[in-house]
Amino acid sequence: MKIAILSRNRRLYSTQRLVEAAEARGHTVQVIDVLRCYMNITSHRPRIHYRGQELVNFDAVIPRIGASVTFYGTAVVRQFEMMNVFSLNESVAITRSRDKLRSLQLLARMGIGLPVTGFAHNPDDINDLINFVGGAPLVIKLLEGTQGIGVVLTETQKAAESVIQAFMGLKANIMVQEFIKEAGGSDLRCFVIGGRVVATMKRQGPEGEFRSNLHRGGSASLVRLTPEERSTAVRAAKIMGLDVCGVDMLRSNHGPVVMEVNSSPGLEGIEKASGEDVAGKIIQYIEKRLQELGNSNLRSRTKTQGKG
Ligand code: ADP
Ligand code: MG
Repeated sequence: MKIAILSRNRRLYSTQRLVEAAEARGHTVQVIDVLRCYMNITSHRPRIHYRGQELVNFDAVIPRIGASVTFYGTAVVRQFEMMNVFSLNESVAITRSRDKLRSLQLLARMGIGLPVTGFAHNPDDINDLINFVGGAPLVIKLLEGTQGIGVVLTETQKAAESVIQAFMGLKANIMVQEFIKEAGGSDLRCFVIGGRVVATMKRQGPEGEFRSNLHRGGSASLVRLTPEERSTAVRAAKIMGLDVCGVDMLRSNHGPVVMEVNSSPGLEGIEKASGEDVAGKIIQYIEKRLQELGNSNLRSRTKTQGKG
């Protein structure tokens, strides 16, 4: 196969591992910076040019689109789709997963356990919003935040009120969430590929920190999921329509609650903590999907031929 990896930095652990895994299985790989791609929008023969050359004969594309380039990145993925190139994670699913409000609404609708969450644009009555989600302590999150930045724990009603006021004063989009204290500063990352959990890790924040992000000094360790946690992760991935994703959940008193579903989950933490060859599994999954697609193309071609 000829595989394109859409990544802005070929030196990233995840990108390197995917290149290695694909080459080890005999495939050709090219790492492509999405921001350098340009395209023609046409129904006849949609194309992508990259550094002055046309990108041709790709069988599959692996989008590793950073949050800051979602808009243009998904447009490039869409162009590959128009060219009938298989994309590991469809562009619509990536767009869906990048909108936290939309994601949580979809998951809630399908009965996935979530922390009680409130969204607001500009409420006149902040106290009502706070009471609406059960009162302090509360976690307040900037919608645009990643890696734990913009996630604040407010222990009292007064603190919650002033933090919400401050964020709103900055015109930031926020959500207000029940604090799952019993998680004890840890969360679970479940790596799902093709409807199966292939690796998991437990992340634990440092002493005195409720955020478990590895970028915030958290540490990762092996963990065994309960059947309920496993099925929650698989269902969340399916609802989001993602082939590959990282489902993050908290262990609450009322079962697993999903915090977010990440469509470009990093490989470093999870491979090191779980000891699994996640990159290899991703490539194997692409091989399997392409084979299935190839077979169905073949079948439909034979069918038309048959009808003559
Ligand atoms: P980011 O997208 O910045 O990673 P998250 O929503 O994942 O933001 O929150 C960062 C971390 O904060 C989580 O990994 C988790 O450890 C902790 N956390 C987030 N929400 C809650 C919550 N409602 N209750 C308890 N801990 C939480
Ligand atoms: Mg997170």
